[in-house]
Amino acid sequence: MIMKTDLDLQAQKMLRTAGLYCTRARVAIIKILIRADRPLTQNQVASRLRTKHLDKVTIYRTLQSLLQAGLVHRAFMQQRAWHFELARNCSETQCHPHFTCTGCGRTHCLTKMSLPMAKSPHKGFIIHRQKIQFEGLCPACA
Ligand SMILES: [Zn+2]
Ligand SMILES: [Zn+2]
Ligand SMILES: [Zn+2]
Repeated sequence: MIMKTDLDLQAQKMLRTAGLYCTRARVAIIKILIRADRPLTQNQVASRLRTKHLDKVTIYRTLQSLLQAGLVHRAFMQQRAWHFELARNCSETQCHPHFTCTGCGRTHCLTKMSLPMAKSPHKGFIIHRQKIQFEGLCPACA
């Protein structure tokens, strides 16, 4: 298990590299996303916060600032909620693919998988980012 101080340093380093101030909310949310290792909704982030000082608006704004800085990505939307994750396992032009099990509903990050970039489908369309999502059965449900 990673020591708490290591996680703090890791979060602070990420923020500094992205040119963001190390606010308590940003550090806390990045630490949650590092620990989670899979995309979380805003509510899931909120329920994992140890300090209850952060209200919904603060969490929302913090996630937005991390998104804008490119530290966090919106991985996918499920049940009308965006799932957020750190962008560290994504490249400039594509996010790592995600696999959602239709049995248990759990989504897995396929961080080792990278697919060739699709070409623009029609003239005038410019692809900035490729995000692939798979559906199927996980080992536990197969
Ligand atoms: Zn991504
Ligand atoms: Zn499953
Ligand atoms: Zn992921």
